[in-house]
Amino acid sequence: MPTAAKSSRLRRLPGKPAPRLPPRPAIAAPWSLRAVQGTQILELAPLKKFPWLVHGFSTRAGGASILNSGEQVLNLGFTDWDQRENVLKNRKAFQAAIGATGSPLVLLQQFHSAIALFLAAPPMEPRKGDASFTNSRGMLLGVQTADCVPILLVDPKKRAVAAIHAGWRGTLARIAEKTVGEMRKHFGSNPAHILAALGPAIGRCCYEVGTELVSEFTSQFADAAEYFDELRTGEEPNPLQWLNMMPPGHQPLPKNVRLDLRKANRSQLLAAGLRDANIFVSNLCTACHTGLFFSYRQAGAKSGRLFSVVGLRQAELSSS
Ligand SMILES: [Zn+2]
Repeated sequence: MPTAAKSSRLRRLPGKPAPRLPPRPAIAAPWSLRAVQGTQILELAPLKKFPWLVHGFSTRAGGASILNSGEQVLNLGFTDWDQRENVLKNRKAFQAAIGATGSPLVLLQQFHSAIALFLAAPPMEPRKGDASFTNSRGMLLGVQTADCVPILLVDPKKRAVAAIHAGWRGTLARIAEKTVGEMRKHFGSNPAHILAALGPAIGRCCYEVGTELVSEFTSQFADAAEYFDELRTGEEPNPLQWLNMMPPGHQPLPKNVRLDLRKANRSQLLAAGLRDANIFVSNLCTACHTGLFFSYRQAGAKSGRLFSVVGLRQAELSSS
């Protein structure tokens, strides 16, 4: 018989351990959380002002998926631990919450590539790629993440949108920059007009990667040193080097460094011609705020998936 953990001071129903979640982070403008019937959607004010646009970033709360802890969550990805019908129910609830019930939702088979696909209509067969873009109405473009950076692009002049999934591989392969280039090619977008929203993702605080990524990034990006925390080559003076037995210049390289994926993508968007003032980066870390988001780093295979979606409405919202 399972017994309640003695250490817990929370009262709870038998068999339903109270989930112990970290406190909710403060959400700072221009980002805001909107609660809709048990779900909470993260939105960006500069995108909300367009009556022809729909967008939203999902969060963990609510939903039909049940974790071992008993917590009910809005898992939007088909994972091994969850049931298909729960995920479909959650997707429906999410679309209702962002006001896009019934709109075809287009998700790609993401594989950490730099493939950006132009979609004039929802594809008949599943397509592989990590970014999609369109200027067709009535279609929702989405990416699934649990730590990777979700990026939504909106060109208000040409009324075109893109959704991008950027993990470290996609970032290294310049998926954000490429997608902006594709928007220029297909829609004649001027990058200076494009707005970018970089949603919740694993932050520099929590994203430890192997040092081999430092050389991967520094070989590709002039400002790559700024993406990493405590980057040391082993050559610089180390005030503590007398503590180990190695002579100067023979310090072991650090095994891990911390990578700021959002900064890397922001830099890429600037390089692609976006204006600094048009790039909005959420400071919410998925791994720090596991009460609000899903984090693969924190939960592994048991992690849920978040959605970030954008689309042109079939009919504009009336201003009344
Ligand atoms: Zn963090």
